[in-house]
Amino acid sequence: MTPRILLVPFLSLLAWGQSPKTAPALLAAAPRLKIALDAGHGGEDTGAKGAKGLLEKDAALAIVQELSKTLDEAGFDVVFTRGDDTLIPLWDRARLANEAGADLFISIHLNAARSRAAKGSEVYFLSLDRGDEDAASVAALENAGASTRPGADSVVAGILEDMAQKAYLQDSERLAVAVQLQLNRLGGIKERGVKQAPFVVLRGAAMPAVLVESAFISNPKEELKLKDAAFVKRLAATITQGIRRYFAGAAGTARRKAVANFR
Ligand SMILES: [Zn+2]
Repeated sequence: MTPRILLVPFLSLLAWGQSPKTAPALLAAAPRLKIALDAGHGGEDTGAKGAKGLLEKDAALAIVQELSKTLDEAGFDVVFTRGDDTLIPLWDRARLANEAGADLFISIHLNAARSRAAKGSEVYFLSLDRGDEDAASVAALENAGASTRPGADSVVAGILEDMAQKAYLQDSERLAVAVQLQLNRLGGIKERGVKQAPFVVLRGAAMPAVLVESAFISNPKEELKLKDAAFVKRLAATITQGIRRYFAGAAGTARRKAVANFR
């Protein structure tokens, strides 16, 4: 008799003997963590464009839609800043997330570089100053859709927004690191680290907030992958795993909610 034959009933016995991990009565009462998903660009703001014509706004929306499924399966509630091809002003996106009482803000974008060889994922959190040269140019591209905020209260609003995210910068960095780590595993890339840049979309979020440059749309190989539903699914599952890891290491209210969510 080979050991493999013995192993199967042994493992089934183990599974059968374990006590159930979920307590339905408690789960029903537990508040679910809410993730605000922000698909970059939209409407007339197409974002970056791949060599084969893929538009960043469409690729970002496809990732966000898949992400909402994997997050729901993992026990999270989801709220969208845009669920279709419309342009939502950058400063309205964090406000929508704040009003929905979201616990995290995840903005999904695609990177573009002059070099077609640039590849992989980069996760950013807010910098209140300019950041390094590369990070600043990525932010400048992403902020281009912002134009000027209407109304005379824009300066005051800007200061209040900076204060909103400032309180969460440490958590935002921890979230960025958790998601980046998983994405590096997916891409088999070691060298890409978390970066900080002055993204307008993150400024007003009163919660941990990151911007994920999911892949390089300017890289023909990555553009092709982004058109593949199976890859988008893997990307979504990977980001979800990073979010779960973040909450597993969270403290205070977020920790209590996470424990209730994943019981
Ligand atoms: Zn973008």
